[in-house]
Amino acid sequence: MGLPFRQIRKLWLLYLFLLFFAFFMFALSINIYVQSLQSSDLRKSQSGALRRGRTTATVVGHYVGFGSTHDNLTREELDENAFNPVETEGAMGAPVIIPAKDSIKMQRAYRIHSYNLMASDRIPLNRTLRDYRIASCLEVEYNPKELPNTSVIIVFHNEAWSVLLRTIWSVINRSPPENLKEIILVDDASDRAFLMKPLEDYIAQLPVTTKIFRQTIRQGIVPARLLGAANAKGDVLTFLDAHCECSQGWLEPLLARIKENRQTAICPVIDIISEDNFGYTKTLENNWGAFNWVLNFKWYASRPKEGSTPATPIATPSMAGGLFSIDREYFYHVGAYDPLMKIWGGENIEMSLRIWQCGGRVEISPCSHVGHVFRKTTPYTFPNGVTQTLTNNVARTAMVWMDKWQNFVFRYTEVNETYLAGQDISDRVALRNRLKCKSFQWYLENIWPSHCFPADDRFFGKILWLTNATQLSIPYERRLKHIAASVNPTNLTDIFNEIDTSKTMDLARYFAPGEENCLRINEDEKGIMSLYVSHCLFDPKLMSMFVMTPKGQIMRNENRCFEYFEPSSTKIPKVSNVRIHTCVEWTDRQLWDYRLDTQQIIHRASQKCLTLEDPKVNMNHIVAEPCVANDRRQMWGLFSMPWREL
Ligand code: UDP
Ligand code: MN
Repeated sequence: MGLPFRQIRKLWLLYLFLLFFAFFMFALSINIYVQSLQSSDLRKSQSGALRRGRTTATVVGHYVGFGSTHDNLTREELDENAFNPVETEGAMGAPVIIPAKDSIKMQRAYRIHSYNLMASDRIPLNRTLRDYRIASCLEVEYNPKELPNTSVIIVFHNEAWSVLLRTIWSVINRSPPENLKEIILVDDASDRAFLMKPLEDYIAQLPVTTKIFRQTIRQGIVPARLLGAANAKGDVLTFLDAHCECSQGWLEPLLARIKENRQTAICPVIDIISEDNFGYTKTLENNWGAFNWVLNFKWYASRPKEGSTPATPIATPSMAGGLFSIDREYFYHVGAYDPLMKIWGGENIEMSLRIWQCGGRVEISPCSHVGHVFRKTTPYTFPNGVTQTLTNNVARTAMVWMDKWQNFVFRYTEVNETYLAGQDISDRVALRNRLKCKSFQWYLENIWPSHCFPADDRFFGKILWLTNATQLSIPYERRLKHIAASVNPTNLTDIFNEIDTSKTMDLARYFAPGEENCLRINEDEKGIMSLYVSHCLFDPKLMSMFVMTPKGQIMRNENRCFEYFEPSSTKIPKVSNVRIHTCVEWTDRQLWDYRLDTQQIIHRASQKCLTLEDPKVNMNHIVAEPCVANDRRQMWGLFSMPWREL
C-alpha cells in the first residue's frame, strides 16, 4: 500500500522546508550570540571608565585576575601574525563585528591577549578616530616650536602586532613632528616570533626614529621603563602602554603643562578601546584616580561641572600609571621608579605619593585623549605568583611613603607582616629624606581630603548594635556616663579605648558571645550592597570596619558611604531606605551624626535614626526610622579599633 506519490512529494517538500528553516534559525541564533558577545562590553563601556574601574574590569594599574590561560594554544598560533586589514574597518573608532562563521576562531585568538585579536587584525594601522576634545580645549592654541620635545616610551610583553603598531602609528600620525623626538620600544622578554626580527625590520623604515631595547629576562614594567628612560633623549618622557591609540591633539596639552610647571606628571584622559570589538569610546573629563585600603587604584568622579568644562588640568591623588608625561630631568630628580618593584602593580601609587609628597603635582589634562584597551583579565603570567608580586610592591609603597598608615595596611589587609621581612627600602627612605618630602598625613589632608582611610580626626572601627545582652566593657561604660550629648564625631577617638586585639583574640570581652551584632555590608552577585547585622567574632579584618569622618560621612573601603534616601511612592517598595553608595561630597543624603548620650546614629537632614527593623523577624534589615528615645533597635556603639601601630 503506501501513500500516493503526490502526497509523498508534498511531505518531502515539507521536510526540506523544515530542515532549511531549522538551519536558518540555527545560523541566526549563532549570529545573535556572537554579536551579543561582542557588544555586551560596548554597552558596559559606554558608561565610562569610571564604571569599569569600580566593577570587574582591569583598569590601568588595577589587577583583577587571570583570564584564560594559554593552555591548548599551539606555538604556531601564538607566533602567527594574522594582521589582515580591511580599509573601512574600525574607521572613526567604530567597533568591528566579526562574522558568525569566524566565531570559533575569534574566541580562540581572543585568549592569546585577552582581547579580540581578530577584530584588531582587521583594522588598519592608521585608522581614523573622532576628535574627542571638549569645546574649551579647541579654543587653546599651541605653538609646537615653543613646546618641549618628547621621547615616547612603550614597554611591552608579548603584544599583538596590529595592536602595538597601531599604538606607534597613532603617535606618529597625531603628534606634531617638532615635538616627537623619538619612539623607544622596550621588549620585556617577549617570545613571539613576529616581535623579533620582523619588528626590527619594520621599525627601521618608520618616518620617526624608533629604537628597540630588549630585556632578555622578564622583569616587568618598572625595569623596562627604566631601561627606556635611560636611553631616551627627549626633554620629556611620555610613557604609553602598548595597546593605545592617541587621538587628535593628545600631545600638545601634556607638553604645555610640563612647560608651565616642570614638576608635574601629567596624564591624558584615558578613553576606552573595547577589548571585545576595538570600538573607541570617549571617557568623561571629570574622572580622577585614587586608591582603596589595599592600595588598588580606583577611579572616582568629581561633580560634573555645568556648562563647558574648562581646559585646565585637574589634580589627581593618583595616576592610573600606564599613560603619562614627565620632564626627563624631573623624573630622575624625584626618584624615577623604585627599581625593586616587580613585574606589575603598585608602581603608579608609589610614584603618585612620591611626586605629591616631594613637592610635585600629578594631574589629568581634560584636553588630551588617549584610548587604552582595558582588559578584564591579564593574559600573561607572574613568574613568582600574583600575590607575592603585588604584595611586594604594595608593601614597599606603604613602608616608604605611608608613615603610620602602613601599620593599618599591614594589620588589616592581605599585605601582612611577612612582607615586611627582607624588604630593603633604605635607598628609597634616603631619597625621601634627601628631598625633604612631606608626610602621608599632609598628603591625605591636602591632596585627597575626601579619602576613606582612618585618620586622627575621625572614627575608625566597628559599629555594634547594642542589645540588652551586650556587655559593655567597664571602661566603656564608665566613659559613657561622663559624656554629654555630642554631635561631633571628632571626639570619638579620644573617648573610646582602642580594643587591643593582640591581647584579646576575639571581641567576646566586649559583648555577649554568640550575639550577632556587628554592622556589616553584604554584597550580592549584582554588586548591590546592603547593611545588615551579623556576628563579628571571627572577623578581625575589614568586613565590618567603618570610618566616620568629621563631616559626617560613614564610609568603608573603596569610598562607599551610608546613604539615606526618601523612598519614592511611585516605585515598588525598596528593601531599605538606607543604602551603600559611592561617597560624594555634595549631598546631605550621606551626612550622619552619632549622639553619644543616646547612642543613636542620626541622618542629619531627615533626623531619622539608623534602626534594626525587627530583630526577631529580619536580622538583615537596617532602615532609617523616626528616632524614639531608648528604643533598643536604634542603639549603636562605636568601637574604635587600633590602626596606628602594628
Ligand atoms: N608589561 C611588561 N612586562 C610585564 C607586564 C606588563 O612590559 O611583565 C607591559 C604591557 O605589555 C603593557 C604595560 O606593561 O604595555 C602595562 O601592562 P598592562 O597593560 O597589562 O597593565 P594594565 O593596563 O592592565 O594595568
Ligand atoms: Mn594596559
